[in-house]
Amino acid sequence: MTIWKCIVCGVDVTDYEPEYCCFGNTYGTEYPCGCMGLPIEPPLCSSECAIKVFGFGDKEAEA
Ligand SMILES: [Zn+2]
Ligand SMILES: [Zn+2]
Repeated sequence: MTIWKCIVCGVDVTDYEPEYCCFGNTYGTEYPCGCMGLPIEPPLCSSECAIKVFGFGDKEAEA
């Protein structure tokens, strides 16, 4: 059983269920998927950590 950790602060995220768009096995095919087999959404422990990753509300990061 895999224990996921918040990619920002490293806290265990016990209620995280990774969702994949594919297995990343389309690489090298005619239409490779950009996900590289990684989960669509990374494990995050809180909305604060999500903000650090996605930069919501940080206008300077949009430039
Ligand atoms: Zn966190
Ligand atoms: Zn994919």
